[in-house]
This record gives sequence, C-alpha cells and structure tokens, in this order.
Amino acid sequence: CGIVGYVGGRPALDVVVDGLARLEYRGYDSAGVAVLADGRLGTAKRAGKLVNLREALAEEPPPAGTLGMGHTRWATHGPPNDRNAHPHTDCTGSVAVIHNGIIENFAELRAELEEAGHKLKSDTDTEAVAHLLEDELAAVDGNARDGLAEAMRRVCRRLEGAFTLVAVHAGDDDLVVGARRNSPLVVGVGKGENFLASDVAAFIEHTRDAIELGQDQIVELRSGGVTVTDFEGRPAEVTEYHVDWDVSA
Ligand code: GLU
Repeated sequence: CGIVGYVGGRPALDVVVDGLARLEYRGYDSAGVAVLADGRLGTAKRAGKLVNLREALAEEPPPAGTLGMGHTRWATHGPPNDRNAHPHTDCTGSVAVIHNGIIENFAELRAELEEAGHKLKSDTDTEAVAHLLEDELAAVDGNARDGLAEAMRRVCRRLEGAFTLVAVHAGDDDLVVGARRNSPLVVGVGKGENFLASDVAAFIEHTRDAIELGQDQIVELRSGGVTVTDFEGRPAEVTEYHVDWDVSA
C-alpha cells in the first residue's frame, strides 16, 4: 500500500517512519521497516497501526543506519499478521523486499523455489521475490556495483501482475533498488540523499524535486545520485519536475 525508501546522511529509521506516517491516510493493516548499518540488516514488522511498529522498534532498536525502507501493507495474499507484514527476507537474511500490488504468477514461482530448497516463511505473493533475488544475486556476482539492480531486472522479467518493489542487500549500504509495473513509484532527489516513495507526500518535507518512474523501469538509488534503466538494463531518459502544490502538515 505505502512505500518509502531512503539513503543519505540522516538516521534512516526516522525518515522512513515519518514517511510512513505521511502515507497513513491511504489505509493499511500492517507496517514494517528495514535498516542497514555496517553490513547488518535489521527488520521489524507488526500487524496493526504504526504505533505497534513504533513500540516494537523502541523495545528492540534496529542498527542505526543511513539506508532504509518502510512499508504499510494492505493484505491481498495472506491474512494481516506479523509474519505476513513486509519486509520479506530471503533464506540468508541478507536481502529484504517490500511490495505494493500483486504478483499474479506467485504460485508457480513459490512452487519452483520450494522445489529448489527455499524455505518460505509467509503466505504472501511478495516473499517469492526475496528468494528469487537471492538466487539471482548468487548468479550475477552480488558484489558488482549494480549487483542488486541486475538481480532485480532478472527477477522483474519473470513477474506478472502489478508491482512496486523496493529491495536492499546487506552487502551494499549505499544502494536501494526500486522497480515498478502498473503501480506508482516516485524518486525524491535531494543533496547527498535520495528518497523513494509510492507517493510524494512521503518525502515532500525533505525535497520537492522528483522523478516519476516510467512503466517497467528500475531505479538505483545512492546517496550521491540516481540511475534509471529499463528491465533489460538500457538507460532510461528521466525528467525531473518540481512539486509545487501546498502540503498541510
Ligand atoms: N500483495 C502483497 C501482500 O499481500 C502486497 C499488498 C500491498 O500492496 O500492500 O502482502
């Protein structure tokens, strides 16, 4: 339902949780975050309102990193509970994914993954993506500068349906990868920091310079810049625009 991503110089958890609060008006049944610091990926997720997630974060604070992402879920596959809340992780716990929309061919992807030995922990269509990324990262040299982006391109080419996906990998603490098809994703362009969201409302207090991602595009978000390609890896033209409407606090 709602998506926020951040990489820059500030504590990512604050930016991400504030962003989720700004998307609350859309309605949701669960919320979760992932934060990356020094190669450690911390996640927290809870069914119910953001206050439940905030309590969980206060009890068990994740590592204080400057890269993170957050999600509010509107369940389509699997009941709204802690386990089905996003982010979803792979078997190694080093890849985390959040998702808006529906992966139509998730049943066959899940079956294929389970056949290959992956243990899935949730009932969601989304979790398959985390495990597919795990396999593709192993196949593309996960240490390459755009390893996660290339893995995401390969995975997206296999997906059917509507999706905004955002993923992070413990091996790269300056990269957030986003992808979209039939579901919105906007980049917020800052100075030494960049944002991703399903809706500009999530980052408008930080920047009003935005890039709307086109159909079937992938964005690599780093603190120093933004690269957009299509699912084949071809560079895409991007047009930055200025959000000039008023926001009430
Ligand atoms: N289909 C996903 C799920 O049920 C994502 C739902 C959403 O857009 O929040 O978990």
